[in-house]
Amino acid sequence: MLSQANTVLKDVFGFEAFRESQQGIINNVLDHQNTLAIMPTGGGKSLCYQIPGVVFEGLSIVISPLISLMQDQVRQLNELAIPACVLNSSLSDSDYQENLDAIKQQQIKLLFLAPETALQANILELLTNCNVACIAIDEAHCISEWGHDFRPEYRQLNRLIERFPNAVCIALTATATPRVREDIKQQLNIKDSSEYISSFDRPNLFISVIPKDNPYLQCKSFVEQHPQQSGIIYCQSRKGVDELTAKLQQDGFSVLPYHAGLNSIKRNDYQERFIRDDVHIIVATIAFGMGINKPDVRFVLHYDLPQNIEGYYQQIGRAGRDGLDAECLLLFGYGDTGKIRFFIEQMSNEQEQRLANMHLNQMLALAEAEDCRRTPLLAYFGEKSTKENCANCDNCTNESKEKSDLTVPAQKFLSCVHRTGQRFGASHIIDVLRGSSAEKVLQNQHNLLSTYNIGNEFTKKQWMALARQLIQKGLLNQEEQFGGLKLTQKAADVLKGKVPFFALLQQPVAASSHASKAIANPGDQKLIAILKADRKRLADAANLPPYAIFSDRTLNEMAYYFPHSQESLLRIHGVGQAKLDKYGQHFLELISEFCQKNDIQEVANTQTASKTTVSKSSATHSNSRSAEIVSAYQQGQSISSLATQFKVKDGTILNHLYRYVQDGHKIAKPNQLLEQSALNQGEIDLALAAFAEHSHERLKPVYDALNEQVGYDQLHLLRIYYVSQLAE
Ligand code: ADP
Ligand code: ZN
Repeated sequence: MLSQANTVLKDVFGFEAFRESQQGIINNVLDHQNTLAIMPTGGGKSLCYQIPGVVFEGLSIVISPLISLMQDQVRQLNELAIPACVLNSSLSDSDYQENLDAIKQQQIKLLFLAPETALQANILELLTNCNVACIAIDEAHCISEWGHDFRPEYRQLNRLIERFPNAVCIALTATATPRVREDIKQQLNIKDSSEYISSFDRPNLFISVIPKDNPYLQCKSFVEQHPQQSGIIYCQSRKGVDELTAKLQQDGFSVLPYHAGLNSIKRNDYQERFIRDDVHIIVATIAFGMGINKPDVRFVLHYDLPQNIEGYYQQIGRAGRDGLDAECLLLFGYGDTGKIRFFIEQMSNEQEQRLANMHLNQMLALAEAEDCRRTPLLAYFGEKSTKENCANCDNCTNESKEKSDLTVPAQKFLSCVHRTGQRFGASHIIDVLRGSSAEKVLQNQHNLLSTYNIGNEFTKKQWMALARQLIQKGLLNQEEQFGGLKLTQKAADVLKGKVPFFALLQQPVAASSHASKAIANPGDQKLIAILKADRKRLADAANLPPYAIFSDRTLNEMAYYFPHSQESLLRIHGVGQAKLDKYGQHFLELISEFCQKNDIQEVANTQTASKTTVSKSSATHSNSRSAEIVSAYQQGQSISSLATQFKVKDGTILNHLYRYVQDGHKIAKPNQLLEQSALNQGEIDLALAAFAEHSHERLKPVYDALNEQVGYDQLHLLRIYYVSQLAE
C-alpha cells in the first residue's frame, strides 16, 4: 500500500516527495490505525486523507465544517480525475440526485460532508450500504469543548464512527492545545503512538516588522513590490479597512474590502474574485480568511498590531501555502499597543484582563525581537526553533543592528524585582525604579527601598522594553496568573556581574529591507506571464480558480525548464497524468512557441524522472535554495552576482554560506573569499586572530577587538573563511 501511496503522489498529484510527517501519517492510516495529525495551515493536511482515500478500496468520508472549502477541494480533486463529491443543501436538486446516484453506484472515492449532514438518518442509511473505508475529520479541534471553536455536531460524530467499525479514522487540525489533543484522542479512540505533531514553523514565510511611521506610504511601497501577486492586508477595524481600501483604489491598486459589516453577498463575491485572481488584494479585518485556502497568497501585511500571536500566526499562515516564498510584514507602532491596552483595561473580568495582557506581551516580544522572529513565534506553540539563524526573517538577514551594553540598568531592574519580593509585575517595578508615588508603591513601602528612584535615565516605555527583553532572554519568569516576575539563575549571574547583558534599547526595529525574495529556480518572467494569462482564460472557461488548473510553482517550473515533451512535462511539479491529458498539449505549445521566438532550449531537469523516490522530507524549499546558492558559489559565481540573481542582499548570500560552513562543510576555494574582501593581508591576519580569540558566534566582540576598524561586511566574509578553515 505504501508504494501505491507513492505512485498516487507522483502520478496523480504530480508531486515528487511527501512532506515531513505526511509519510508517517499516511502509512499509519493505510495500516488501519486511527490517527491524529496536527499540522500548521499549509502543512499539507489534505493529502493525508486524499491519498488513503484514493488507495483504499471503497468510500472515504471527509467531514469538514466549511462548505466553501469542501467545494474547493472537490473541484481540485476532480481536476486530478479523482472522483469526489459533496452532499449539502446548497446543491441543486438535480446535482444532489446525481451525486447520490454516483455514491450508490460506488463511483465516488471521496465524499465531503458537513457534520450535521453526515448524521442525518437518510445519509447514514445511504452510507451503510457503501463500503466505508476511512473517515477523515478535518478541523478536529471542533470536537473538544475545551477548544475555541467547539461545535456540538462534532461531538456526535461518534455515532457515525460507531456505525462503521471497520473504517479507519483520521483527525486533522492546525490548532490544538494539549488538552484538546487529549480530548480528540479519547473521543476518537486514537493511541498516543498515532499522534503526529508537525513543527509549526513555516520556513517559506519571510517575517519582518518595521516601525509604523507613515503607514499608508509604507503599505503602498510594500504592495508595489508585489505587482500582480495576491495578498491580504489586515486592519484592526472596519473603518480602517474601508479607508485603506478607498485610498489604494484611488491609487490604482486592484483591491477589495472584506469585513463583517458587508453583507454576505458582497463578502462572498469579493472572496470569490480574490480566489479567481480577478482582484489581487483584499483589505480585511480578521473576519477574512477562514473560508479560503488559496495556495498562492504571496504576501500578508499587518497594517495594525494583532492582539496576540495566535491570531498573527493564523493570518500570516494564509500566505505561501503552496510552499513558495511569501512575505509577511507587520507595521508596528506604539500607538497600536496603547489602543490594545485601552481595550484590555475596559475588560471587566480580571482574569481575562491578565490573559489578554500576557498575550499582548508575547506579541510585543515578537514585534520587538532583536533576534530571530521565529523564536518567540514558535515559543508560543511550545516549540523551540532549531536554528539560531533562520535566514528568513528580517533580523536574521540583516545584522546591522547594534546592541548596547545594558548591564547596569538590567541589574537595577533585577535587583528591584528581588527587593520587592518577586511578586510584582513589570509596571510596578518600573514605578519603583522611577520614584513614582503611586498608591501601590507607598502602601507597600517600596519608596523606602534602595532601588526606589534610581531609574530616571529611562522612560517608562524604555524600561518596559527592557523588561520584556529580560523575560525573553530567560532572566525573569513571568507568573501566568498575576504577572509577577521572578528571577532565574541567569539573572543571578547578571546581578553578580559575572555576565553582561546586551540588548537593544527601545527602538528595536530597523527598517526592513523589504526585499522581495526570489524563488529557487526563478522562471522566465515573460513566459510566466503568458502561461498565467492562459491559465486564467482556461480557469474562467471551466469556472475554476486558476490554481486548480496549475499552481504558481508549476508555471514557474515550466518557465525554468521549458519542457518540450510530455515526458519532460510530467517531471514538472504538480503535473500528473490527469493534468497532462487535460492541459499538457496546450501548455507545451505555448512553451514551444515562446522558445522558438526567443531561441531558448529546453533545460535538463535533474529532478528524478520517477517522482516516487521516497522523500528525504527535510529538503524544504529554503534548504534547496541554500544548496543552490552554495553550489553556484562553489562553481565560482561571485557573491554580488548571486545576490542579483536571487534578488537578495549580499548579506543574505553570506548568511547561506556561513550556515553551510557552520555545518562542517568546506568552501572549495576559500582564498576567493579573501580576494573579495577589501582588506590587505595584515588586516586579514589581525581579523582572523580576533576570531580565534573571541569565537565567531558573535561579530560584535571581534568588531570591538579590531577597534571598529573592520566593517561588518568584511567580518561576515572573513568569518566564513575562518569557519571553513576550521572544518579541516
Ligand atoms: P492544509 O490543509 O494543511 O492547510 P493543504 O492540504 O491545503 O494544507 O496543502 C497546502 C498546499 O501544499 C497545497 O497547495 C498542496 O497541493 C501542497 N502540498 C501538499 N503536500 C505536498 C507535497 N508533498 N508536495 C508538494 N506540494 C504539496
Ligand atoms: Zn530568523
